[in-house]
Amino acid sequence: MSETIGFIGLGIMGQGMVRNLLKAGFPVRVWNRTHSKTEKLVAEGAVAATSPADVAAHSEVIITCVSDTPDVEAVLFHENGVIFGAAAGNLVIDCSTISPQATQRIAGILAQKGVHMLDAPLSGGSEGAAKGTLSIMVGGDETHFNRALPFFQAMGKTITHVGSTGAGQTVKLVNQILVVVTMLGVSEALMFAQAGGLDLQKTLTAVSGGAAGSWMLSNRGPQVVQRDWQPGFTIDLQQKDLRLVLETADTLGVPMLGTSTVFNLYRTLQQQGLGAEGNHALVKALENLAGFEVGSDEVSTSFQ
Ligand code: NAP
Repeated sequence: MSETIGFIGLGIMGQGMVRNLLKAGFPVRVWNRTHSKTEKLVAEGAVAATSPADVAAHSEVIITCVSDTPDVEAVLFHENGVIFGAAAGNLVIDCSTISPQATQRIAGILAQKGVHMLDAPLSGGSEGAAKGTLSIMVGGDETHFNRALPFFQAMGKTITHVGSTGAGQTVKLVNQILVVVTMLGVSEALMFAQAGGLDLQKTLTAVSGGAAGSWMLSNRGPQVVQRDWQPGFTIDLQQKDLRLVLETADTLGVPMLGTSTVFNLYRTLQQQGLGAEGNHALVKALENLAGFEVGSDEVSTSFQ
């Protein structure tokens, strides 16, 4: 018989992940700060818990997927937190994107009660959570990784044990550096193409299959050209992750020229009230500097 499982944090990601656990046949006990978000999942077979401590008291494995480091600390350690219901031998799997250093501290506190922890941040967005195709990068002891594997397999497709506690979060930050610096390149290239009077769709078609191709170029490039700012991942959440990158880089002594530039550009967009737009709206910060827009009719005619 499989282990009992609990899930805390039913946001964009958590909803899809719980649904896939249920589909795989695991009974799931759920808790969310805003209770109404449990209702649909309860109708689909989940059991509503009254607090994180209640989740822990009835679950051998407890997954958390909340926003930021203080939020993970809140559901684990604050009033009615997991720690007050958990027993020695339980396993906490944190799927939120949070600080690698804080992850090590949190794992240490849980260990004092004999509770194990894996950090298991995600990549693949809301679509990956809904389809069960997430990439999951896992830090922690291999024994606990193997114990958690059936649950990971229900929620994700590419599941990689990357190292010890905190390594999952560090790999996730590597992912975020690649995402934003690539998006800066895509934005700058489209500004250049616009100024050169090029047909932007044809330009994307011409370069996407070559050495410059990337997921961001193929998926977010066309959105920029169409001026569609629907978020796959919001500027506000992206900025939270870049803060984590820069804090970690500071402790490691690594210069982060590209990432810090993007961090500052996103900050200007947040000041304009654009934090809920998709991270590809980065191009708007370049447009503000250049004084023209990608996708508008007012183009230079130099190469037409
Ligand atoms: P979301 O939709 O904003 O949901 C956040 C969840 O955290 C909600 O359930 C929220 O509860 C809960 N929460 C926040 N602060 C809390 C607190 N102090 N106490 C208790 N609950 C709290 O976010 P999401 O998109 O699901 O993202 C969750 C995590 O996955 C984040 O760390 C994010 O960076 C990461 N992630 C997201 C994506 C993506 O594409 N969305 C991709 C990869 C990784 P309420 O409902 O009460 O607000």
